[in-house]
Amino acid sequence: MRIIDGKSVAQDIKNNLKTAIARAVERCGKPIGLAVILVGDNPASKIYTSNKVRACEEVGISSYMYEFKDGTPEEDILSLISRLNADETINGILVQLPLPKGYDEGKILKAINVHKDVDGFSAFQIGRLNMGDPQLVPCTPLGVLALLDYYNIPIEGKNAVVVGRSNIVGKPVASLLLFRNATVTICHSRTPDLAGHTKRADILVAAVGRAKLITADMVKEGAVVIDVGINRTEAGLAGDVDFESVAPKASYITPVPGGVGPMTIAMLMSNTLKAYELQNGKD
Ligand code: NDP
Repeated sequence: MRIIDGKSVAQDIKNNLKTAIARAVERCGKPIGLAVILVGDNPASKIYTSNKVRACEEVGISSYMYEFKDGTPEEDILSLISRLNADETINGILVQLPLPKGYDEGKILKAINVHKDVDGFSAFQIGRLNMGDPQLVPCTPLGVLALLDYYNIPIEGKNAVVVGRSNIVGKPVASLLLFRNATVTICHSRTPDLAGHTKRADILVAAVGRAKLITADMVKEGAVVIDVGINRTEAGLAGDVDFESVAPKASYITPVPGGVGPMTIAMLMSNTLKAYELQNGKD
């Protein structure tokens, strides 16, 4: 069994990005800019946004942080997004989710120019992904595939089972695996006999949000197990996979923390570079 070290893979990717970003900036003669919008004071969101800003500094992207108090009128946020859409120094815009209660998340996300949608959540970007012509792909799913590739884990012809069907993780992971010619099953809360499906997985991706839902009896001997889940429990952070019991059966497994999590931010940096290049005429 090998533990997939997402932290060091993400660092490696960021190091390579730093060089690629310096080259792109030199070629185009202008800096790369990412706008990060945070509404409210959710402690986890604060940590995520400050990690994103720190990663920007590391790779050479100029970050612009916009913080709004919970209760700020939605119109103020929409008008900021409209200004950022028109601002040529801003190549990527992200709104940290979840937004506090009362905000229309769909409306706010829809306001972002699809070419600056570095989270890849817009119907345009999701549509391109599903048509096999991806441009800006959601960061966490992209990170999952990057981990598999980094460890040279074959995907084609494998049975991949994704537990979770959200628009931001489950469905795009499934699409990416499908386009790499895996045979993909998507499970969700209404799937009867979840274990019957997961036990057939050569590659098992858990993106559920239920601590330790996936136990050893649900996993095939030698499976590759990717745990996207981040659950805050009394004992600290836990994944969706019961790492202790599943690890001995797996050929590869991601830990939580230190698996998929760090990849998400590395992929955000990569998407921001991609958006910059697309906006500067490189497809
Ligand atoms: P959502 O809550 O949007 O989706 C969860 C999915 O899991 C749903 O499709 C739901 O089914 C399914 N589900 C819930 N309970 C069960 C169950 N008992 N059996 C089978 N399926 C079930 O979550 P997200 O996709 O946004 O996130 C999933 C996890 O990944 C969370 O822990 C989140 O914190 C983490 N995450 C981690 C990131 C990272 O950077 N590492 C980034 C984003 C998310 P149904 O559709 O039927 O309701």
